[in-house]
Amino acid sequence: MRIESLQVSVESLPLVKPFKTALRTVMEIENINVSVKLENGTEGVGAAAPTVAITGDSTKGIVSIIEEVISPNLIGLEIENINVLSQLIQLSCVGNTSAKAAVEIALYDAVSKRWQLPLYQYLGGKSNVLKNDMTVSVDEPEEMAKAALSLIDDGFSTLKIKLGKDWRGDVERVACIRDAVGDQVKIRIDANQGWTTKQAISIIHELEEKRVDIDLVEQPVQAHDIEGLKEIRRCVQVPIMADESLFSPRDAMRLLNEHAVDFLNIKLMKTGGIRRALQIADMAEAAGVECMIGSMMESSISVAAAAHLATAHPNITKIDLDAPLWIKNEPYEGIQFIKDQLHIADRPGLGVKRKTSFTQ
Ligand SMILES: [Mg+2]
Repeated sequence: MRIESLQVSVESLPLVKPFKTALRTVMEIENINVSVKLENGTEGVGAAAPTVAITGDSTKGIVSIIEEVISPNLIGLEIENINVLSQLIQLSCVGNTSAKAAVEIALYDAVSKRWQLPLYQYLGGKSNVLKNDMTVSVDEPEEMAKAALSLIDDGFSTLKIKLGKDWRGDVERVACIRDAVGDQVKIRIDANQGWTTKQAISIIHELEEKRVDIDLVEQPVQAHDIEGLKEIRRCVQVPIMADESLFSPRDAMRLLNEHAVDFLNIKLMKTGGIRRALQIADMAEAAGVECMIGSMMESSISVAAAAHLATAHPNITKIDLDAPLWIKNEPYEGIQFIKDQLHIADRPGLGVKRKTSFTQ
């Protein structure tokens, strides 16, 4: 079945409240939607989110790379050759992983619709339910504790705490949240590259001494600082996870070879789509390292793709896919968030469709 056309559109989606990390404060997201049409009329959808501070990809950049560079290589080719199409996308240019992800997700949606299977079944998975976590933005300790408590009331049992903006107050932030939520809640920390190696070791040691239990610490130091990750991992008990240090399978190879981290955080906007994410999850499995699946501030289309991938891969054991819960008025339906569970629709493809009633 041939690919007949590919179209790109952009829409702005305001958030419920500002999303604050060490790298940025976001009030609304721009969603770049891709629609692929096959010759029999089947439509595949994909999406990207521009995150200049992390991927370097802007809205205009993503749109023009898709229209001018990626799309012309694909028109007229057979959708069943998805692995070859995916490789063509990856080889079409250097970088631009968000644009590549948007197009590749649309192709995976189309090919699994072609075979009339939900994407997770096409990828070899069985369950359509995942256990999710929820993020607490970086703020004053009391504000963060209040936000954490209200998330526990909403049914979450795993929280991801954003830190790294003001390292001197970070131990107090975590201790304050732990005090508020009690011992049963899992707490993951994400410094978003905001600490130096020495700061990270001192903060984590202090938390260990105070017996503030932490599930893992994500990306304590700058993306390029693999030596820093290794040094922190050597000095502390708490597991360390790479996020911004990991884009490609090649990055994963280095992190795994050098035993730099305990976990990898895979995001489709960094890998350039599903196939490279599968490659990373496979490599990590061979190395005995489990993976988390996360996302940028993205809408349900690309988050659904991440959810399908996660439920299909046994080495993706941690789920951090709360982004659609931050969107005030989500235009797509198909994945459902029920307390801390994420349910994938049992329809062919991604199972997402635009709400017929949607107006901004
Ligand atoms: Mg992160």
